Amino acid sequence: MIARVLIDGPSELVFDYAIPADLPVVEGCRVRVPIRQKSTSGTVLSVNPPPEQSEFAMREIQSLIDPEPLITPVLLKVARWISNYYGSSIESVIRSILPEAVRTEDNSAKTRRIATANENIPAEDLEKLEKRAPKQHIILTLLLAAENRTLPTTELGDGSAPSLKSLESKGLVKISTEEVRRDPEAADEIIPSQPLTLNDQQQEAFEAIKGALPLGGESQEDPPLNGSAPFLLLGVTGSGKTEVYLQSAQAALDLGKTVLVLVPEIALTPQTVRRFKARFSQLNDQVAVLHSNLSQGERFDEWHRIRTGKARIVIGARSAVFAPLPDLGLIIIDEEHESTYKQENVPRYQARDVAVLRAAFEPCTIVLGSATPSLESWQNTQNGKYQLLRLDKRADAHSMPLVRVIDMRLEKQKQKGQTPILSDRLRTALEQRLEKGEQSILFLNRRGFARSLQCHGCGHTCECPHCAVALTYHRTDERLVCHVCGHQSIVPRKCPECKNAGIALQGYGTQKVEEVLQKVLPEARFARIDADAMRRKNTLKDILRKFKSQKIDILIGTQMIAKGLHFPNVTLVGILNADLGLHVPDFRAGERTFQLITQVAGRAGRGELEGEVIVQTFTPHSPSIQFARKHDFDGYAEQEMEMRHQFRFPPFAHCGVLTARSTHERRAEFTLQTLHLRLKENLPQGITLGEVLPSPLIRSHDQFRFQITLRSNKARPLTNHIQAILQKTTLPEDVTVVFDMDAYNFS
Ligand code: ADP
Ligand code: ZN
Repeated sequence: MIARVLIDGPSELVFDYAIPADLPVVEGCRVRVPIRQKSTSGTVLSVNPPPEQSEFAMREIQSLIDPEPLITPVLLKVARWISNYYGSSIESVIRSILPEAVRTEDNSAKTRRIATANENIPAEDLEKLEKRAPKQHIILTLLLAAENRTLPTTELGDGSAPSLKSLESKGLVKISTEEVRRDPEAADEIIPSQPLTLNDQQQEAFEAIKGALPLGGESQEDPPLNGSAPFLLLGVTGSGKTEVYLQSAQAALDLGKTVLVLVPEIALTPQTVRRFKARFSQLNDQVAVLHSNLSQGERFDEWHRIRTGKARIVIGARSAVFAPLPDLGLIIIDEEHESTYKQENVPRYQARDVAVLRAAFEPCTIVLGSATPSLESWQNTQNGKYQLLRLDKRADAHSMPLVRVIDMRLEKQKQKGQTPILSDRLRTALEQRLEKGEQSILFLNRRGFARSLQCHGCGHTCECPHCAVALTYHRTDERLVCHVCGHQSIVPRKCPECKNAGIALQGYGTQKVEEVLQKVLPEARFARIDADAMRRKNTLKDILRKFKSQKIDILIGTQMIAKGLHFPNVTLVGILNADLGLHVPDFRAGERTFQLITQVAGRAGRGELEGEVIVQTFTPHSPSIQFARKHDFDGYAEQEMEMRHQFRFPPFAHCGVLTARSTHERRAEFTLQTLHLRLKENLPQGITLGEVLPSPLIRSHDQFRFQITLRSNKARPLTNHIQAILQKTTLPEDVTVVFDMDAYNFS
């Protein structure tokens, strides 16, 4: 057999090697291999049959570095499943499962040696080196090309030490030691929490989960699933789902098992992370939090702490589904409906679905929790694949907030055709909260509808030159910014098309809301949370801390504040433009709007004081808004499922999107048309092939995009058919084709 090996080091080379007969090499093994005259280390990405005829004798793997593969047998099964189901290469999946920090040796140190090249090295010095000391020349060139002319010495290749020494003594390079960044949360003090007495429904849910936990001890070869189907915990906002998670986690630990907790995004769910830490703080070392901002060394350490069973609870976002926990007893997926669980880059996968599969392979218990479950998971409770657990009341026995819907069409009439940002009702409500010293949250679903610049004369809108979207006006730096690619330009004074001076801002974003508040409520203290305001590190945490200690009266924010926040003094939530998300060409638009309104509304009235929610909308009668108003998930699901069934959308079919993109418009379209023809031949039963259409975002990053939407009763036949056709088709070099199985993004 042949092993495809990813060589350690920054250049990420991949080579094939023959596997000696006596070497038990599988995916995920660390190996030593020859490369040119040297030997180096690498990771086996895949094992394949040898090519039918080969002109060269392939070089052989020299030895195994560790006796065992880094990847556990279950994760290897998971990797193969992902590769099959989503049509991603096994190589790309293994790369995700084994983060780079883990694949590379010498990451374990908390400090590391770094080499920095001098700023002004004369060209003649370089030339001299190239002739007399080629090794030193290579190192120096690498450094000069690196960011800040600095690289860790470990990335300069085996045996670079003597050359570095010479370079240092010549004064061309400086070698120093760099502190590897510590866990940014280490300084946070956390007050330990005690288990609460569960209410009846929580108790029932907890006992069901506890009863399903796998027993510790005996290792089972290919065991039955213990009759433990995944649980869907459907609990209204504030119903105490987290307390159920915490006590279930404790029960799993008591059985000697480990626990994996997935959250939509670590940075946006600081409170959930803190609650886990608080409950298990006496075992603080046993909680590992997988952030995206861990340094390589920290990631290495955490990974090995998890792999060796020292960290018994792991909390992380999507990619933590691959955390190498031994003896896994329980997986918890918080806010299981969140689209952040879908990975939109290679390898594409849906972490929630992967987790369900991993739970079946382990086997272990899995709980998916949400106040607004995805219709996919809901359907699984209806057909008996999942077990439904419900929490219908808020845990603290307070009532759900009262939701008022304001018809903005009427507000617009009142204001003689001008749509106000704050309706009278919302403004009054904000004033009342200020008087009483209570807090408010204003939510703005800004996506794609921020302030753009439009000419009143000819209707021209300022668009990004690289993407087919309007540029967004940013007041703070007086610029137009593309929210797709980041392109920036100055604000024109005249219309670039018709030279009319009547070019003005349309729509509004969070910055504009801030401006309006300053005018109508000058005495209020407010803060804004959105991607622009959050660029600086720790701002989110700081603002949330200030809000918690009531130094801020009104919090303005985008999607970033919709998740999991719990502030007892918030009695008012205003949703400024509830229906904007409805007008996107995506069959999940209604579902997302329902989820968003319900989740945002759920931030109100979470303490002793009663909560009120004011929803401003132009489509007050849309089901998403009406059912959210009544906190009625069942009602919403029922009518939405009917629609999905009728049009054969998920969860009644699998939906995949085939996209072709290229800087050359015709070639992208033509390629997709060719693929369309081939897909149509021998189209397996149960697959519906859509037409070639321009993507809603027709141009992005200078590339034109076309797509075909496919639907299928079963997943595998669809992936297999697409893969088979793609393998047989030679694509033009400048066209990229991507298949997204179970797609969530149709733009
Ligand atoms: P969810 O995760 O469902 O939104 P939370 O777990 O945040 O709900 O719970 C909301 C509030 O209710 C929290 O302040 C929590 O401490 C409290 N709570 C949860 N369970 C109980 C209980 N059994 N008794 C009293 N308070 C509870
Ligand atoms: Zn752009």
